[in-house]
Amino acid sequence: MPNCAIFLDRDGTINEDPGYLGEINKVFLLPGAGQGLSILKNEYNFKLIVISNQSGIARGLLTHNIVKSINKKINELLFHFNVQIDEFYFCPFHPDFSNEEECKCRKPSAIMVYKAAKEHNIDLTKSYFIGDMTYDIECGKNAELKTILVKTGNGKKSLKALKLQNNLPSFVAQNILDSCKFIKNDFFGAS
Ligand SMILES: [Mg+2]
Repeated sequence: MPNCAIFLDRDGTINEDPGYLGEINKVFLLPGAGQGLSILKNEYNFKLIVISNQSGIARGLLTHNIVKSINKKINELLFHFNVQIDEFYFCPFHPDFSNEEECKCRKPSAIMVYKAAKEHNIDLTKSYFIGDMTYDIECGKNAELKTILVKTGNGKKSLKALKLQNNLPSFVAQNILDSCKFIKNDFFGAS
């Protein structure tokens, strides 16, 4: 049977976003992230897949190994909540520093979502995207996922922008834990 997944942005959604996060001692989980991810995985049985733009690599501010060490640190912190991210996907490119072909994976493109869906046998019709940026919501919509904007990170600004664009997500949540209410109702429903 195919899996169902929660696709998640990383910085500003799971962990605090200081901008081009490159130091493991600056990795802090946001309120509700650990509990929320634990419910999504351990109670609702979703795969947890991170889809992240990491243009700090193209900019020369980060390396692939630094990004991987941050990802590892996030899973170490999540260990205390008895949950792990199944896989982290990231796009290291940026249009100012990389060619058009390379940048095709960058959110709002759904390419990383499609790659993950193939590699993890995920049914996208029963999956969700959670993020704090307008391009997270656009990425989710491009993959025809239901979308949740969290108000952590840049979420409050993004909500204003999405309202102006008349491009609202399926749900707006305070944080990942708050997202669980919507997902529970929507996924398991009353029927
Ligand atoms: Mg973010």
